[in-house]
Amino acid sequence: MTGSETGKHGEYALLTPGPLTTTATVKQAMLRDLSTWDSDYNDRVRHLRSKLVELAAGKSSRSRYTSVLMQGSGTFAVESVVGSAVPENGKLLIVENGAYGRRMADIARVLRISHEVLSCGEDEIPDAEAVSRTLETCPDVTHAAIIHCETTTGILNDIASVGSVVKAHGKTLIVDAMSSFGGIPINAGELGVDFLISSSNKCVQGVPGFGFVIAERSALENCEGNARSLSLDLYDQWRVLENEWKWRFTSPTHAVLAFIQALAELDEEGGIPARFARYKALQARVASGMEELGFKTFLKRELQSPIITSFHYPKVGNFVFSDLYEHVKSDGYVLYPGKISNADTFRIGNIGDIDMSVIEGLLASVRAFVRGLSD
Ligand SMILES: *Cc1c(COP(=O)(O)O)cnc(C)c1O
Repeated sequence: MTGSETGKHGEYALLTPGPLTTTATVKQAMLRDLSTWDSDYNDRVRHLRSKLVELAAGKSSRSRYTSVLMQGSGTFAVESVVGSAVPENGKLLIVENGAYGRRMADIARVLRISHEVLSCGEDEIPDAEAVSRTLETCPDVTHAAIIHCETTTGILNDIASVGSVVKAHGKTLIVDAMSSFGGIPINAGELGVDFLISSSNKCVQGVPGFGFVIAERSALENCEGNARSLSLDLYDQWRVLENEWKWRFTSPTHAVLAFIQALAELDEEGGIPARFARYKALQARVASGMEELGFKTFLKRELQSPIITSFHYPKVGNFVFSDLYEHVKSDGYVLYPGKISNADTFRIGNIGDIDMSVIEGLLASVRAFVRGLSD
């Protein structure tokens, strides 16, 4: 999307963590009705599944992994992993520094899965040493979960160091890479990730409708019979996808077509490394441009992901976030409110089909707003 398209005809640049601004061609791909029973559709689903494995595990460890698609938003996919991977006598360690980690703990609580939470504060990344100590004091833990990019703040957790400790203790590793997969290079094989979770409407730049899990085959085989839910049974979903190339229940065909187009456009852009470079440049400009206008980032620069940035409310007497929100919206830009527990913040996402002109347009709009504020 270019700056000139924003704000006109009710079109907005969504500077959020998803749903995102998508290309016209991704939206056009949905103008087709396909039967979930037809080979035209099921062949596409098969290719899409192997493409996901290739993106997450690379060509080298591809055969160790498979992928499962799951209807619903990203949380449904997380719930299907937590509810299917941890057996009745298992225990999940959740390494948490934000709302999405806490949501995983909520899932475990609702599903009555025995769990332990290790928290480190929202402006810090979990320390591998602390994870190691917890695993030593809780030997009954069987699975450990961590969020890659904690979208609450935009912090990028070090899944390599935490993951290697989890694997050294022989535990199953679950990574919520919802807001990073497709936008930040990840090699599940090298990291020893057993379940990597993301969804259709984040960095691959598709539309909402389903989540997906890239799973290590033996870890997935161990899920048989564990599920606490019929529709969110990851193992059964996989068996039917493998044997019949179908999803067990009605799948979001239009969202799948959009996603296939989005994957082709990811390739055209130069793959994940090129998208990562674009996102990094956009995020750096968001941060520097807002700092020039007097806003302060919530996170230290070295912890910041290239996905979304949290800003403190400025210490100006008459600043009201909803005024800023409405002002930039009237210029065609949709911001994201904050979600941090103990600080007044708002967020600016930079993923989706946006380029530098969108960011410059947003900054011009914020600049005009700031001029109208008084100290
Ligand atoms: C978006 C997101 C989710 C899933 O949220 P849904 O609203 O269910 O799509 C989970 N974890 C993280 C880190 C996310 O950014």
